[in-house]
Amino acid sequence: MPNTCPACSTALRPIVLEGVAVAHCGDCGGTWLPGHRLDVVLDALVPDASWLDDLLTRAHGAQDSNRRCPSCDGSMETLLWPDTEVSVDRCPSGCGAWVDAGELDRIAAHRVDVVVQKPASELLKAIAREVEQVAEGQEPPSMAVSEIADLLRLLGRRVFVQVPVVAAGANAGSQHG
Ligand SMILES: [Zn+2]
Ligand SMILES: [Zn+2]
Repeated sequence: MPNTCPACSTALRPIVLEGVAVAHCGDCGGTWLPGHRLDVVLDALVPDASWLDDLLTRAHGAQDSNRRCPSCDGSMETLLWPDTEVSVDRCPSGCGAWVDAGELDRIAAHRVDVVVQKPASELLKAIAREVEQVAEGQEPPSMAVSEIADLLRLLGRRVFVQVPVVAAGANAGSQHG
């Protein structure tokens, strides 16, 4: 386990978050999530959104961070979480990711929004992307199968909600002539 907080240099303490061992700073409230535990925790918080892209493996868009990795002491880099104002620090060597106080909640809240609001067409695109990722060897088929199952479940709910809207739209359209 790492030693000091990359934000305020206080000693980090091991805690368990959603059943996952992480390190927490009692002073600034930030959390260090070793390896890919940020994804594991997010998937536990919002299971229906497990198919959302894994930000930590994203190759592009990272900026240099002035914080140092609590595990290897190398320079970290900062990634802006898509569609949020949250910036997450990650170690480019894969040691893990750092979230400041409240950021995990904001990312989770965003995921809930996505799950609730994403239109069926976007969900279909996400399914196609999963298939592509397997074909290109970027993701093991077992993981894709469970993520596609989540997507199909969401899609089922979406179609249920959207079909009456589509039907109403078709009626309205015929009246416009
Ligand atoms: Zn701290
Ligand atoms: Zn590191």
